[in-house]
Amino acid sequence: MATAPNLPFQAQDEITYMRPVSNCAGCGDTKVSWSVLEGMRRFNRAKELKGKNRYEVIYAADRGCGNLQGYHSYRIVDAIFCMGSGVIVGEGLKESCSEKQVVITASGDGGYNFNMSGFKFAAKNKKSGAITIVYNNYNIRMTGGQIPLEVDFDKEGAALGFEVIHLNPYHVDDNAELFKELISRYLNKDKIMVVADGVCVVDMAKDSKGVGLNLGRFVKSDECVDLKFQQEKERISQEEPEKLKDLPRFKCRLCGIGLRCHALLNNDPNLCFGCGACKQFPCPVGALSFEGPSFADSTKIPELLTMYRV
Ligand code: SF4
Ligand code: SF4
Repeated sequence: MATAPNLPFQAQDEITYMRPVSNCAGCGDTKVSWSVLEGMRRFNRAKELKGKNRYEVIYAADRGCGNLQGYHSYRIVDAIFCMGSGVIVGEGLKESCSEKQVVITASGDGGYNFNMSGFKFAAKNKKSGAITIVYNNYNIRMTGGQIPLEVDFDKEGAALGFEVIHLNPYHVDDNAELFKELISRYLNKDKIMVVADGVCVVDMAKDSKGVGLNLGRFVKSDECVDLKFQQEKERISQEEPEKLKDLPRFKCRLCGIGLRCHALLNNDPNLCFGCGACKQFPCPVGALSFEGPSFADSTKIPELLTMYRV
């Protein structure tokens, strides 16, 4: 069960940094899950809830890219079984969790149809609200990349009893505000389906390249606490190498761990997929930005081409 109280703004320790990040650098799924946890943090802060009075997210997931986000220090997934299980397991969890726990369920567009009975229970549940996320990568990646059954989420979600909200996964700050509001609505027993369109940065980056669109890269200014520290380490390694062993590996990894991105963890723009989540990540010293086209502008390649007149 998720227990760490102040995440996602704590870069916990070196073990967290060293643990392999399971998703691709610009994976939209990880950006949405950051927004979910950050939304809960903002909800508690806005209501000045502390200690035992705070609410917490319980996250029940299908298997799939969107949910390979681990039980570990990134602390996203609390329960994961198989495709088609996330939403119904979430309904079971609602029966046993405390009133301070908000159950958020997740599936992919591939697993959406397997979850149909779960959706029906969730939409008809008179005791609890529902927030169910569909990570829409237009693909069934877990079983080799087949095209899933076509789904009109707006029509089907509404017919099931949900309000359907689409979001751009890379608008991390806007999405955190959205989830803060949705948590209030969940407690009011509203039923919401959130469709995160365009989460597979690998497919979208390939498509962009194919039409000659060069995506941008993140930029860290000299104010970045970690860059400053790395420079200081360089100096120490030249001038006082005996002190190196006493130094930590990093000073700040908030953006890299929060967005679970190797490019940020390694301070290496060459590893950046150009997803654009860095545009909105609230770096505490304002050191993080992004230059160039990105999926934060649009997850639709034709729209990006028009915007950047390629
Ligand atoms: S560095 Fe930022 S923009 Fe680049 S892939 Fe990572 S999260 Fe996305
Ligand atoms: S850009 Fe900001 S959040 Fe990221 S490592 Fe530097 S100081 Fe920390």
